[in-house]
Amino acid sequence: MKTYRKELWFQTKNRREFINITPQVEECLKESGIKDGILLCNAMHITSSVFINDDEPGLHQDFEEWLEGLAPEKPYSRYHHNGYEDNADAHLKRTIMGREVVVAITGGKLDFGPWEQIFYGEFDGKRPKRVLVKIIGE
Ligand code: ZN
Repeated sequence: MKTYRKELWFQTKNRREFINITPQVEECLKESGIKDGILLCNAMHITSSVFINDDEPGLHQDFEEWLEGLAPEKPYSRYHHNGYEDNADAHLKRTIMGREVVVAITGGKLDFGPWEQIFYGEFDGKRPKRVLVKIIGE
């Protein structure tokens, strides 16, 4: 069995952003040489997410508005967590959107349904943050 590990770094311009990281993950898979197995991709921070969904801008706006409705960024004083920090909303948003995805690898490719794409969801950005890609198989 082969194993592969890589960290991908992101620094967003805005506090919140969604980035399609499918091309970087596919690059990792190619680099690993693994043809059949399992790929794990997870955010290494507790204020960002990795999730799978459609690459459609309207949907991303819907996610943003839905998450802001559930856990608005402001006022910062509404959250117990915001004593020294201002990112309670980011922790909550991340929890809803998830920490990681697991994708089957078949024939050297991500074994996706027709519209599945992998996204990095940033909720407290403007600083360097990491995503882990771990692949096992043969
Ligand atoms: Zn915090």
